[in-house]
Amino acid sequence: MPAEVVEISTPPGQMGPGPSDNTMYVINPVKKGREYGMHKDDHGNPYVYLPPWNGPVHEPATPDAEGNFLHYENINDPRFHAAHTYAAIRYTLDVWEQYYGRPIEWYFKNYYPKAEVVILPEFENAQIGRGFIEIGTDVNKIDGTLSPFPLNFDVIAHEVGHGILFSEVGEPDADKETGEFLGFQESSGDVVSMIAILHFDSVIDEILESTSGNLYMANHLNRFAETSAVAQIRMASNNYKLSDFSDGWKDSHLLAQPLTGAIFDIFVDIFHEELVRLGAISTNLEQLSDLLEGTPEYEARLHGEFEAAYEMHASLFKEALLYSRDALATLLIETWSRLSPNYLRYTNFHQAMQRAEQALFNGLYRNIIDVNFKWRNIGTAIVGPQLPKEKGEDHSHSHGKAHNHSETAETATKPSTAVGRNSAEGSYRMRSHKSQPYARRYRESRGMEP
Ligand SMILES: [Zn+2]
Repeated sequence: MPAEVVEISTPPGQMGPGPSDNTMYVINPVKKGREYGMHKDDHGNPYVYLPPWNGPVHEPATPDAEGNFLHYENINDPRFHAAHTYAAIRYTLDVWEQYYGRPIEWYFKNYYPKAEVVILPEFENAQIGRGFIEIGTDVNKIDGTLSPFPLNFDVIAHEVGHGILFSEVGEPDADKETGEFLGFQESSGDVVSMIAILHFDSVIDEILESTSGNLYMANHLNRFAETSAVAQIRMASNNYKLSDFSDGWKDSHLLAQPLTGAIFDIFVDIFHEELVRLGAISTNLEQLSDLLEGTPEYEARLHGEFEAAYEMHASLFKEALLYSRDALATLLIETWSRLSPNYLRYTNFHQAMQRAEQALFNGLYRNIIDVNFKWRNIGTAIVGPQLPKEKGEDHSHSHGKAHNHSETAETATKPSTAVGRNSAEGSYRMRSHKSQPYARRYRESRGMEP
């Protein structure tokens, strides 16, 4: 994909070396050695390692005369990595602050007013924890290829997503944390990232062009954290049901899949409804799509029809995609505001989304929501206990490729609630900040009561 210049909300004069601003500072430490979080000393006693880093740092990225960071063009330059990481974090926050209509604060603001963002190539993971975001390197388990996570928008946005959810939903009391809460966190990290990448014009165009608007085809949208064309860490479009975990679960990223799948399918269903409403596809095509969803015939039967419709109505497809993106994001923030982190189960998420939908859309998408949660057996299945991982056992993702990023950090750094990672290429152009939350804009545009 072509590079895109990214504009973020921080005014040029307010970004310093690092980059840094009044909410975070990026550093590239010299020989930090280990990541923040829980570690054991030489005697096997656990200790918590937390910011700030007080040692030496490599040369920071510095703004040009206009206050921008466009002069770093070599993607192997550590200063490019620093600038890209900073921009990815700020961009993700910009997107979500736009939906909220207010700033999102760090969940650790009472302990650390600013996040220390650490470029840590020797760390085979990415994580957010109390006072820090650390971005490492993906090591391909098969051929050993290294892919720096600082260049991976999805991974960075996923970590920011964890942070947003800890701020907006909260952290459970230690004895009230469920496996489903952990799965909800992982799922939400992916969804936060997905909505964020859908604000890059280049990504939107690429998705529509490469799929002709048939979003179930593998593409940049549902291939999270791509580190190569074939190696994706998780897929948003998946067939996992909650009942697949009735006997227990080992990996919260996998347990996240039924929830992510339900949310992705709701998103696609809203997109299809909007396409019908705009007259871009026929009701027949929408029904056929619903009918064949998840079956082998889907692609063969539908793709030609989508191609023909997209050929005629490309701009309506884009309009519908942006609408469903904003509708989903708004639905999500209203859902999250109705959730408690304690004893959380996916069925609570479903119920909260029903109430959010009622408040926002007055029943318009109620059926879509219910059908998709039901299909995932959310509300009927009971998740079994957490099972020990066998030695050397890795993530088993839905499409074969195994990575092992975040869970070391996630399980190890409980006191600082460190959590794992997730990717995109990218850059986009930030639209002018709208102060109104989308929900209000939506209701006003449709003449609904506020
Ligand atoms: Zn994660």
